[in-house]
Amino acid sequence: MKITLVGYGRMGRMIEEVAVSRGHSVVCTVDADNQSEFGGDAFRSADVVVEFTSPESAYSNVIKAFDCGMKVVSGTTGWYDCHRQEIRERCENGATLFWSSNFSVGVYLFSAVNRYLARLMKGFPGYEVSIDEVHHCHKKDAPSGTAVSLAGDIIAAGLKEGYRDFLVTGDGGERPGSDGCGGKLPIFSFRRGEVAGIHTVRYEGDDDIISISHEARSRMGFAVGAVLAAEYTATHSGLLKMSDLFENI
Ligand code: NAD
Repeated sequence: MKITLVGYGRMGRMIEEVAVSRGHSVVCTVDADNQSEFGGDAFRSADVVVEFTSPESAYSNVIKAFDCGMKVVSGTTGWYDCHRQEIRERCENGATLFWSSNFSVGVYLFSAVNRYLARLMKGFPGYEVSIDEVHHCHKKDAPSGTAVSLAGDIIAAGLKEGYRDFLVTGDGGERPGSDGCGGKLPIFSFRRGEVAGIHTVRYEGDDDIISISHEARSRMGFAVGAVLAAEYTATHSGLLKMSDLFENI
């Protein structure tokens, strides 16, 4: 498979490493400083465009790549929800996008456990649910896209109505109180050092706490998942998602 990378930062470089190790080739790399490559012959010679940039530029990158007739895998967070309807319509009319807020296979499994636990907890209203997410301090968006997805599944199970997010920066940051959430699910976002990503869903009762947690050891899991998604996208069309990769979970 031939890949064009849009965004050659930490994720772009790691995706290149994984793609090459799986026998693929990167035929074009576009970053902020060589935008003239976008849409050129090398760009268009790829089977799939893999886009990991920034929340500000992702939407226009995806639309421009669609306009070049390219299939796109995007992992950029913080842009998709605002454009969901338009993207869906484009994909019903011939475009192809595989987007996920988290390409880690482990997080995909964790999300399935989260949905199952939320269904169980619906019968036990004495527990207060909250989400903690911890990421490195370079991360531009908060709460993380993964925390928002986890919250969406808890809300869909009927445990809360919407969420409210709290940002905690600095190494000594304490978990703030969640008073005044008014029936909303609190998401606490911590930004510390170089943490690759930790997500914890807590159900706090009077007598005990039930918590489930996923901790990424490095960013490699995201890169492997993004390349698996690109392989899938090369042979499929439309609006694609992680559940298409793992049909039985
Ligand atoms: P990064 O800052 O290291 O790299 C982003 C790169 O994009 C930079 O090199 C920047 O110059 C480039 N860029 C910015 N605007 C551009 C444009 N218009 N065209 C081309 N390139 C442009 O960030 P990163 O750690 O690689 O993460 C990128 C995105 O991926 C973030 O939104 C992050 O939250 C997300 N992310 C998603 C997953 C996932 O599994 N979905 C995993 C990790 C990170």
